[in-house]
Amino acid sequence: MAKLHKKACRKLDDVPEAGKMNERLPGPEDSHCHYDLIIVGAGPSGLFCAINSMQKGKKILILEKKNSPGHKLLISGSGRCNITHDGDIQGFLDHFGDHGRFLRPALLGFTNKDLITFFKGKGLGMIREKGDKIFPETLQARDVLNILIEQCRELGVVIKCNQAVKSIARNKDGFLVGCKGGCYRSRLLVIATGGCSYPATGSSGDGYRFAGILGHRITEIGPALTPLLIKDYPFSELAGLSFPDMKILLYRHAKIREHRGDILFTHQGLSGPGILDQSRYIRAGDVLKLSFVPEDKREALEKWLVDRAQKDGGRSLLSVLEDLPRFVPPCVPLSLRLIKRMLEVSGMASDLKMAQLTRVMRNRLIDNLTGLSLVVSDLCGNNQAMVTRGGVETIEVNPKTMQSRLVKGLYLVGEVLDVDGDTGGYNLQAAFSTGMLAAGSIKSNFISS
Ligand SMILES: Cc1cc2nc3c(=O)[nH]c(=O)nc-3n(C[C@H](O)[C@H](O)[C@H](O)COP(=O)(O)OP(=O)(O)OC[C@H]3O[C@@H](n4cnc5c(N)ncnc54)[C@H](O)[C@@H]3O)c2cc1C
Repeated sequence: MAKLHKKACRKLDDVPEAGKMNERLPGPEDSHCHYDLIIVGAGPSGLFCAINSMQKGKKILILEKKNSPGHKLLISGSGRCNITHDGDIQGFLDHFGDHGRFLRPALLGFTNKDLITFFKGKGLGMIREKGDKIFPETLQARDVLNILIEQCRELGVVIKCNQAVKSIARNKDGFLVGCKGGCYRSRLLVIATGGCSYPATGSSGDGYRFAGILGHRITEIGPALTPLLIKDYPFSELAGLSFPDMKILLYRHAKIREHRGDILFTHQGLSGPGILDQSRYIRAGDVLKLSFVPEDKREALEKWLVDRAQKDGGRSLLSVLEDLPRFVPPCVPLSLRLIKRMLEVSGMASDLKMAQLTRVMRNRLIDNLTGLSLVVSDLCGNNQAMVTRGGVETIEVNPKTMQSRLVKGLYLVGEVLDVDGDTGGYNLQAAFSTGMLAAGSIKSNFISS
């Protein structure tokens, strides 16, 4: 029997699926495989949870699939790591779509200020950049990661890399975690495997499978914080043009959302914070309406065009539209290149004379300037999405502890949960705050054991 246990612990190339594993549990002699806490995933949520869970005499193990921890953290903020956002933490709650409420105890329990204080205490100051985004003063994600790894080392948290967890099973004593290189047992388990965006960083959705096997529901998964591809996109040549604070309406049969934000024309569609932050709500086939001129200026625009046609009938429409910002201030700067393209999109030649502008043409142009309809052909996939929308159903997780309501001793932290934040540091703050909240509960669990 002991032989069998040893074998189960050492040679697990063929770790069985959950449920079939109990018969192969390692025995008490395999103490090197037995931990008080195992955390799957060495991203920010897992590392921070480990650091804050550590207690004297406790054995904590982090299993990481990649050859080193924190691959995604290293590319965050283009390698500069927009670690959190400035301002009142209450204001964060609105930046997580419909799920801010779930994060309330986590964010209020460990705030943006607490996070800044933590890193400052370890010698890494923070700076505030445009848009109230907070970055490490060195502008190096590596410095953030190094502190987390160093803390783990100092506290005695074991991090095993190249250990892709293949299966997780629960028995009466705790959890059995199977990897290619071995098998580990623990009383408590944290799933901190992230979402499935940028899968090359190691976060490829494994946590959804593990949580599902353990009985959790997984809400619909999709890319979020992602650019959009637009059907018959008319602005490829204007790629790089950006518009601040543009009004954007989203239609799926009827209007479903309205918001404002900065937009960027790409080669194949739209990006910029105003698109990325809303992408969690957008699906292929939806229609976006962009306002270059405020909708409430529609009448003024019409009156102005009629008036100009009467006075300047011989002038080209294009040259007249160059004057538009002075008479009917647009929402966003209208460059000549853009106006020219808007005329083409509206089916008009740029040398069309004002006198030739019919009522139908005028109305079409006004429609497009006040609300240009663009059909979303698709969202850019996981290789370009910064986060994943959907994940472990939050109703099944206690928001005050991050402990599963279904499986005792199981915790879920970070992006594996059905929470995704806007750009601006919200996602990393959520990863740290949920990791911290779970750690508080894990410590009490250690004490009570
Ligand atoms: C390009 C890019 C830029 C970003 N920039 C920012 C930013 O500036 N600010 C911000 O707030 N957010 C940013 N984000 C989002 C942010 O990085 C994530 O939300 C955050 O890293 C999530 O942390 P996490 O710990 O939950 O998961 P992750 O960071 O994804 O870590 C999960 C870890 O689990 C490991 N893992 C997965 N499966 C297994 C398995 N089976 N066995 C063992 N290990 C496993 C993975 O290898 C990974 O190391 C960015 C994301 C991307 C892709």
